[in-house]
Amino acid sequence: VQANFYQVRLQQPVEMSGLNFLPTDDLALLCTRRTRLKKIGQKVMVGDLVVVEEPDWLDRRGAIAEVLPRKTELQRPPVANVDQILLVFALEEPGLDPWQLSRFLVKAESTGLDLCLCLNKSDLISHQEQQKWQIGLQKWGYAPLFISVVKQQGIELLYHHLQNKITVVAGPSGVGKSSLINYLIPSIDLRVGEVSGKLQRGRHTTRHVELFELPGGGLLADSPGFNQPSLNCQPSDLISYFPEARVRLAQQSCQFSNCLHRDEPNCAVRGDWERYEYYLKFLEEAIAHQAEQQKTP
Ligand code: GDP
Ligand code: ZN
Repeated sequence: VQANFYQVRLQQPVEMSGLNFLPTDDLALLCTRRTRLKKIGQKVMVGDLVVVEEPDWLDRRGAIAEVLPRKTELQRPPVANVDQILLVFALEEPGLDPWQLSRFLVKAESTGLDLCLCLNKSDLISHQEQQKWQIGLQKWGYAPLFISVVKQQGIELLYHHLQNKITVVAGPSGVGKSSLINYLIPSIDLRVGEVSGKLQRGRHTTRHVELFELPGGGLLADSPGFNQPSLNCQPSDLISYFPEARVRLAQQSCQFSNCLHRDEPNCAVRGDWERYEYYLKFLEEAIAHQAEQQKTP
C-alpha cells in the first residue's frame, strides 16, 4: 500500500493467450481501488486477498474490484489474514527479562492469533541455561524454539512453522529480528545492528508494512519495534492471556463471574503460580488504562 496504489501479487496461475503464467514476484500489478469500493468505505490492507479487474499486463496495472472476507485483522501492524505471531527474544545480549517477555506474550495472546515463541542467540548460553529456560517457560504454557541465527541452529524447525502462513514478526529491538528475516529471505536486506537511534526508528516511521515472501511459500511482516508494549486490554480479559491460568479456569470457575482474581472470595485462579504477581501488576496497568480511556471522551 502506497499513496492509494496497491501492489498486488498474483496468487493463482494466470492464463494469457493460452499460456499459463505462474505467480512470481515480478508478476505483481500496481493497482488502484475501484470507486465503488471507496464509496462503501472498503479499505484495502496489506495481506488482503483481492480480485483485480482489467489487468494491463504490459504496464502492470489493474484495479481492485473486490476485497475477499478477512480471516483475521491485526491493527498493529495493520495486516489482514495474519495466521500467527512470531515472537522473537534473545537469550543474551540483551538478557532475557521475564517481565518484558511476559508483556510481549500477553500482548500477542490478546490478538487471538497463534503464537510461536522463538529464543535467539542460543550460541551465547550454555546448554544448562537453555534447559532452565525451557523448563521455566513450559510452566508458563510455552514451548519455545531455541535458535541461533549466527550459528544457523534451529532455523529448520522454525522455517517449518512459517511455511505457507502469514506471520508477523514481533519482539524488542536488538534480539536479532532483522538478522533472522535476512537469513530466511536472502533477497532482502534489512539493516542489522542498529539497536537504538534515528535509523532504527526511521525504518518504521513510514507506517508502511510490507509482506516479504519466503522462499518455498509463506509471507513475513516485520512489526514496529516497541520495547515496552502497553497493556491496553480489558482488565477482565487479562487472565485469559496467561495460558497457565487459562488451564486452571477451564477446570474450575471462580465464585463471581466478574472476578478479577485479586482478593475476591473463592477465586479459582489466585494462587502460587509464578506469574501471578505479573498478572496483578499488568492488571493494575490495564485498569489504569481503562480509567484513562473513560476520562477522555
Ligand atoms: P533486531 O533489532 O531485533 O532487528 O536485531 P538485529 O537483527 O539488528 O541484531 C542485533 C544484533 O544481534 C546484531 O549485532 C546481530 O549481529 C546480533 N545477532 C543476531 N542474531 C544473533 C545470534 O544468533 N547470535 C549472536 N551472538 N548474535 C546475534
Ligand atoms: Zn478469580
